[in-house]
Amino acid sequence: MQPARILLALAFVVSLACVAAADERKQLAFEVVDRNAQQMTDIGDSLFYFGELGMQEVESVKLLEDTLKAAGFKVEVGGAGMPTNLWAEYGSGRPKIAIVTEVDALPGGSQTPGTYERKPLVQGGPGHMEGHNTHGGVASLAAFAVKQVMARHNIPGTVAVSFGPAEEQLASRPFLVRAGYFKDVDAIIYLHIRDALATGFGVQNYAAISSVFTFHGKTAHGASNPWDGKDAVDAVELMSIGFDKLREHLRPTYRAHRTITFGGIQPNIIPDKGQIWWFVRDASMPAAKETYDKLLKIAEGASLMTGTTWDVKYAASAWPQLVNKAIAEAIQKNIEVVGVPKWTEQEQQFARDFQKAAEKPVVGLRTAPIPLGGRAQSAASNDSGDVSWVVPAGSLNFPSSVPGIEYHEWKAAVTPVSSISHKGQVAGAKVLAASVIDLLTSPELLQKARAEFEVDAKKTPYFSLLPPDAKPDLDLNRGEMEKYRADLRKHYLGKTPRFN
Ligand SMILES: [Zn+2]
Repeated sequence: MQPARILLALAFVVSLACVAAADERKQLAFEVVDRNAQQMTDIGDSLFYFGELGMQEVESVKLLEDTLKAAGFKVEVGGAGMPTNLWAEYGSGRPKIAIVTEVDALPGGSQTPGTYERKPLVQGGPGHMEGHNTHGGVASLAAFAVKQVMARHNIPGTVAVSFGPAEEQLASRPFLVRAGYFKDVDAIIYLHIRDALATGFGVQNYAAISSVFTFHGKTAHGASNPWDGKDAVDAVELMSIGFDKLREHLRPTYRAHRTITFGGIQPNIIPDKGQIWWFVRDASMPAAKETYDKLLKIAEGASLMTGTTWDVKYAASAWPQLVNKAIAEAIQKNIEVVGVPKWTEQEQQFARDFQKAAEKPVVGLRTAPIPLGGRAQSAASNDSGDVSWVVPAGSLNFPSSVPGIEYHEWKAAVTPVSSISHKGQVAGAKVLAASVIDLLTSPELLQKARAEFEVDAKKTPYFSLLPPDAKPDLDLNRGEMEKYRADLRKHYLGKTPRFN
């Protein structure tokens, strides 16, 4: 043979060997997932019944902490000033790959699972009507499977899991980024439940800035001496009207909505306090910030017109999620290998009946993965977006809910502990573990992801919306949670899942 041919043949054999090694590693990860499927769904089911709101994920984080510690992870709880922030790691040094997700529930979401008639487990109580409970088990077990593979095959580097508090209020990730959690991370995969096994790439959703404006005036009798009063609620109204005048001159991509959170006490007392809470959004953070800066001017104008003073308090912010194409391509390959779960006829029938009852298209459960494509940008927001502008980010959705059943509605709390959800979690954990293994073992993939990321990050450099003195709001949802915790406790499963 010619030397060139020998080299070519050799390269072919080596690449075959690499593929075989990669397959062997992933096969081991799949075995670990299958062996621990029950433990994983016990975690997700336990979290469902905890039904904990953002910043109050105490029981959920305790269970995850215990499970991950017992599984051999180094676990930190309470970082970045948030008692329910959990960061777990196995291994050391680079490459370092992190799974990023959340486990918070929603107010009013309590529902008896399995029945699609409205039947709260706890009347008025919080619950998982988006299925974030499923994230806990999938992320933990995938990380454990990666750990087992790293140990068996002497793979260098670190696998990390980040459970950020209060995703539903966009409340934690800017703080995690500021605290430097992602400084030495090479890539992340953001994990979220959906009705499909899917990934995607491009800018996936919207930037959001949330702030509370408070005006301060002077009280007076509404009839006897109104001329002595300075009406802070007038300022609130003028701010609202002022922004409505601006709407015509904003980019068509903008979104802005507000609610009046304090509007006075009774009509014959000129209010010395008025408060209005705003969300400003756009397709990019610089665009959202531009509108937000105009909103600040409007607040100033409203205060001038009424002789009141004002202050503004940062509530939350989120960059849109920037999802990496190179990582998406790697994830998609694993999606094709794992495939969607085989649904039983009973599960398909349940899905169809549920869709019919919810007056949605009766299409049943998806029987194939979604092909890779750029997804249309949605106008919703997720604070994990901030992470995606400081480190290359992939995104993975797993099929644990019923198509057409929208989140943030009690109906979405019907299936998160069902066999449909459980099977979707198994598929999700396998794809996630395999994709983290790809990122850990392929320098070419990391390099490609980094190069793509650099282009986007250069075009729109990340800046934090956090004021320098901003602290996480640890009282967020506290009162609401305390009201229901005793009743929720009656439904706790009392399980202590252990991976093996
Ligand atoms: Zn979510």
